[in-house]
Amino acid sequence: MSTFEYSNLRFNFGFLLEALPGTSREIELNYPLVKLGGDVVLFPLTGTFKASRTTQGIYFSGELHSHISAECARCLITFDLPITIPLDDLFFYPPHEAPEGEYVVKKDGQVDLAPLVREMALLSIPIQQICREDCQGFCVECGQNLNEFDCGCQDDTIDPRLAGLKDFLDKLAP
Ligand SMILES: [Zn+2]
Ligand SMILES: [Zn+2]
Repeated sequence: MSTFEYSNLRFNFGFLLEALPGTSREIELNYPLVKLGGDVVLFPLTGTFKASRTTQGIYFSGELHSHISAECARCLITFDLPITIPLDDLFFYPPHEAPEGEYVVKKDGQVDLAPLVREMALLSIPIQQICREDCQGFCVECGQNLNEFDCGCQDDTIDPRLAGLKDFLDKLAP
């Protein structure tokens, strides 16, 4: 598991490891900005999660809310995409061996949630993210960003004063 230089999602759960299975603690997050591995920046990161002691380690569940910078699939602007990050994962604690690819609680009780939050944040981004429901994207004819103004290329309705001209042009180039 890679470590991140600037994680403010590192917690000490030593107290929970000493508690009986079933013991839990609610933790509220409210960070203006969280960097996760450099390429993923969440702003802000809020929400509540529960850390529960289980016989195998610590189970994290909850829901975080944030925004991530994304590029609109239609008009290509960069915008702040709201995302919901579900947490639902067991971190194994020695002597329970973590299966390949699973997260672990370090021997000293430290847990870094950054890799999990990063993974879930990336998974929460839809493949076709759009800046807004009615984003018009670009005109396929002239490349105009149709959110700025309508270039008119794709208008099916022709100004009646130009209808005659259109008929004439259609005859020239059917
Ligand atoms: Zn757009
Ligand atoms: Zn156009």
